[in-house]
Amino acid sequence: ATLARRNPDPRFVRSPPTLTPPPLHPPGPVNIHENVLRAMDRPSQNHRDPWFAPFFQKVLSDSKMIFGTTKGTPLIYPGTGTGGWESALTNTLSPGDKILTFRYGQFSHLWIDMMNRMGLDVEVIECEWGEGADEARLAAALKADTGKKIKAVAVVHNETTTGVTSDIARVREAMDGAAHPALLLVDGVSSIGALDFQFDKWGVDVAVTGSQKALSLPTGLALMAVSDKAIEAKKTATLKKCYYDWTDMFNTNPSGNVPYTPSIPLLYGLAESLALLRAEGGMAAFTARHHRLAEGTRKAVAAWGLKLLCKNPRWQSDSLTVIEAPAGIDSGKIVAEAYARYNLSIGVGLSKVAGKVFRIGHLGNMDEVMSASALAGTEMALLSAGAKITPGSGVGAAIEYWAATSKVIPTRG
Ligand SMILES: *Cc1c(COP(=O)(O)O)cnc(C)c1O
Repeated sequence: ATLARRNPDPRFVRSPPTLTPPPLHPPGPVNIHENVLRAMDRPSQNHRDPWFAPFFQKVLSDSKMIFGTTKGTPLIYPGTGTGGWESALTNTLSPGDKILTFRYGQFSHLWIDMMNRMGLDVEVIECEWGEGADEARLAAALKADTGKKIKAVAVVHNETTTGVTSDIARVREAMDGAAHPALLLVDGVSSIGALDFQFDKWGVDVAVTGSQKALSLPTGLALMAVSDKAIEAKKTATLKKCYYDWTDMFNTNPSGNVPYTPSIPLLYGLAESLALLRAEGGMAAFTARHHRLAEGTRKAVAAWGLKLLCKNPRWQSDSLTVIEAPAGIDSGKIVAEAYARYNLSIGVGLSKVAGKVFRIGHLGNMDEVMSASALAGTEMALLSAGAKITPGSGVGAAIEYWAATSKVIPTRG
């Protein structure tokens, strides 16, 4: 019944079970809302015809809401979050420029790898996986930079390998406290559209996200917001760039044009996804929903007697929960059992924490009932993998919390 509800398309209902896509509960890609699927299901259209410019201008402008910006310039590229990273670096920096950043998971690690490959001088604050951006260490590194050699501070807001959300407001305070003029580049790939993000208030200079995380679209768009300060830095930035050169966007976007062929289905999907977030009530409403889903999930983890990888409650992520496997059980086995026996896709542990943790996403197109089904499936998978947990304990704790804190949906009152 659950599958039929999510995939009423008869092509899927008739498929053999092995071909049925499972409900998705990793931290991305994320389940695509039916309205979004239908919005994308269109014949090809020509972006040089007159309809495109006003359509694109609206979706570009509407995208500012998820970044928490009115002052920033939005950009939408055919690409992925990784392309957004590259664009943030190459448009603002020059070879040999110093960049200060943290390593606390696989995504921050990969961004650092890119910085090195780009020929930047990278200063890394090494952290344990499960920690977030330590503002005191950042402040110390910035104060030590008396010659103001550091041109940018780069932070992964929500580290999707560890379930840790860093506090960007306090990162900004540390930068201001050191009176440091560096740019602030933020990877918001698994936060923007799910968690509170205040591009203007936090003084972010480049924020990056991708379509397949909180926006719950197929992969294929890199979305950004860039500040006037970043645009000013671009004037002297000499890192090589071509496809991701903002200049080509700045020359075309104001008239509603694009420098290369856009993915029109993805743009229709984005327009619908943003409309759903607006209808829900915007940033305050969708961040509150993500907090509720995360709290319920954390209550389930506690009831199972398991631990979060996140080392400090202030960094607990509301977009995904990363859970340490019970002693003696390979976390990969839990994820494999979920997929093989219960047609449920959850996230494996990556890199350093492979085999040690598993990840439950609750970002994007997600509600209590979907999350409850993910928790029930995870609980069955834990039992199948040999974990000594009490059946129903996690689901019970989560639904008790959700029922006690539920409100009538505004449009159903
Ligand atoms: C998924 C993810 C990325 C990579 O994005 P792609 O779209 O796969 O290129 C980068 N950073 C974070 C935090 C992510 O979750």
